[in-house]
Amino acid sequence: MTVPAGRTVPAAVPAGRPLPAHPADVAASAAPASKAVGRAGADLDELIRRDPGAHRVLTGDRPTGPLHLGHYFGTLQNRVRLQRLGVEMFVVVADYQVITDRDIADRLAEHSESLVLDYLAAGLDPDRATIFAHSAVPALNQLLLPFLSLVSVAELGRNPTVKDEIAHSSQSAVNGLMFTYPVHQAADILFCKANVVPVGQDQLPHLEVARTVARRFNERYPHPDGTGVFPRPEALLSAAPLLLGTDGGKMSKSRGNAVRLSADADTTARLIRGAKTDSDRRITYDPATRPEVSSLVLLAALCQDRAPEPVADEIGDGGAAALKRTVTEAVNEHFAPMRARRAELAADRGYIRQVLREGAERANAVAEATLAEVRTVMGSV
Ligand code: ATP
Ligand code: MG
Repeated sequence: MTVPAGRTVPAAVPAGRPLPAHPADVAASAAPASKAVGRAGADLDELIRRDPGAHRVLTGDRPTGPLHLGHYFGTLQNRVRLQRLGVEMFVVVADYQVITDRDIADRLAEHSESLVLDYLAAGLDPDRATIFAHSAVPALNQLLLPFLSLVSVAELGRNPTVKDEIAHSSQSAVNGLMFTYPVHQAADILFCKANVVPVGQDQLPHLEVARTVARRFNERYPHPDGTGVFPRPEALLSAAPLLLGTDGGKMSKSRGNAVRLSADADTTARLIRGAKTDSDRRITYDPATRPEVSSLVLLAALCQDRAPEPVADEIGDGGAAALKRTVTEAVNEHFAPMRARRAELAADRGYIRQVLREGAERANAVAEATLAEVRTVMGSV
């Protein structure tokens, strides 16, 4: 794999200059903060479609296990779609963030390679997307220091996602990295000046931190020509920003409630058969009052590229068993080609490592340019 001429990322990120002003950002700066992050959806989509070149995406995942259905419909599908629209993309394997909620990053290399396999099987193209592990990009991590000075300890402690992660943590004591996790994520996003971040709902509070860091940095260290160094990134939510797991909680790699994208058809059937539902026999789509049933209906609908209501109507009085049969068939049919592609790719681990190596090279060049700019506006050089 080579980086095609004219597509080297360092050249695509002019050193010292931010991206052009993003119209959504201008609107967002006048809007209440809570609305700004969650709004995304249709507005942002339309802006991206009109001008893919004015957008840059950063997303990523922790290498804590293989990706699941929540990842696919929460963010991965959106990444592939944006890539096809021609949006420049960075995808971070967030390896340092694994040790926020556990003492040791277990089987780190294996899990990192497994993420890359899932990405490529889903359709991310390493010639167009820069896929890298953030521990391999020192200048990115160095941004954490000035960024940490921009947020208060009280703000870090209030973050609802951090509180939720602490509640599910396997550690006996909460470590400092857990509290600085959202600021580290701000460095992941801002090192490449990304202005679009396709994420699930659990990441919205973190996105808010990244937006705050960008705004405060720009205010405290204005660029000599009056512009800010960093754009204010926007979350891009999908139609399934919070897919539930088999226990009715957020589907998560680390919570034993996930259906992996790479699971075989029988395992998928068994897991879905065991998914939590409710006692009402009639199947409806009503996320507010019937979250578990509605999440399953939505899953089938997304696999079949349909709206959830007619899927629920079709099952009608068939009950949970019929719902689960429908979901199983839909999932297995939708993911069969991706599973086959993943198995083929898995035969060449050398290639997967090469993708990460080349991604790190490109990410390093971008991070070094951004860090140089940060040091200049801070007066460090
Ligand atoms: P872990 O349990 O190790 O934290 P996770 O399943 O929560 O793993 P992350 O790596 O933390 O996965 O999240 C990666 C991305 O996937 C984030 O953008 C997150 O919002 C999104 N995501 C994770 N789980 C879901 C879900 N159930 N529904 C929708 N999006 C999700
Ligand atoms: Mg998580």
